Amino acid sequence: MGEDVETLKRRTPLLDYLRQHNWTGHPASRSEFVGLCPLHEETRPSFYVNTRKNVFYCHGCGQGGDLIRFVQLSRGLSFRQSLACLDPEITPEADSSAVLEEAAEFYQQQLDHSPDAISYLQRRGVHDLALLRELGIGYAPGGTLRLYLTTQGHSFDVLQRLGLINARGADALYQRIVFPLRQGEHIVNLYGRSIGSAFAHRFLPGSKGGLYAWEKVRNCSEVLLVEGLFDYISVSQAGFSNATCSLGTHLNDIQFRQLCGGDRTVYVTFDIDQNQSGQRAADQLVHRLVMHGVSARRVLLPEGHDPNSFFVQGGDAYQFQTLLEAAQP
Ligand SMILES: [Zn+2]
Repeated sequence: MGEDVETLKRRTPLLDYLRQHNWTGHPASRSEFVGLCPLHEETRPSFYVNTRKNVFYCHGCGQGGDLIRFVQLSRGLSFRQSLACLDPEITPEADSSAVLEEAAEFYQQQLDHSPDAISYLQRRGVHDLALLRELGIGYAPGGTLRLYLTTQGHSFDVLQRLGLINARGADALYQRIVFPLRQGEHIVNLYGRSIGSAFAHRFLPGSKGGLYAWEKVRNCSEVLLVEGLFDYISVSQAGFSNATCSLGTHLNDIQFRQLCGGDRTVYVTFDIDQNQSGQRAADQLVHRLVMHGVSARRVLLPEGHDPNSFFVQGGDAYQFQTLLEAAQP
């Protein structure tokens, strides 16, 4: 394994990899290039690549390491997953995001034929079909994915390794509304919201990636951060095009770094639940953001509400806007 890793790194110099992924840097010294950091938001270049040692270091976010570390950080993958996606020879079925793409497409096709799923979406107030398609939302009826993907030429092992199916060959996301989670171009995970009695939230193994639909809002001066994907849909439908979603109240490192840097105000709009956990998480996050120099405010929804239920139960864009304006630092 160690030998393979060294061979892999020699074969793919870090600078080449970065350039293939649209990074531009200019020479800073004999063996150094400098450019904007792909791992955090910045306007002045502080990301250095040392071509002699084949490593990077960012003076802005403090991240550094070799090619594999870079892939881990930029794509939210484990060490092993990073190796797999860098080297087709170490793992023949390297491009896991392509398989996830096919799975997501398959689930998308199933949605139209699943009355239960459609009525669930209606209950959750989803009415913008164009948005539904744009987000690639689908439905996993269960029991059919394995046959479809193996017919497409993917091995049982790959599907199991990705966590799409369990050891018995059944869909891991069973009777769930499926959202593909992307980072840049690539699907890095699938999130499944149960429409039945099973535990509500489920991800495939591995990272949930960065903030949802971050590319669309990264340049907004005000960003609305919500906790769940149905919250995201509700505020988007109400015309707030500056929303993103952290898929839970705990932000991973990628998500937190995305919010830092850049000149923006973050409106944290987590659930207001009875046990106060959403409020506590929102308070902590606002505090942490402020400590990192980010302007952040807490939006207080009415007791017992999240953005989704707020709109489902008749709240409108004007009322929501009033809550945003009342948000406290
Ligand atoms: Zn950085």
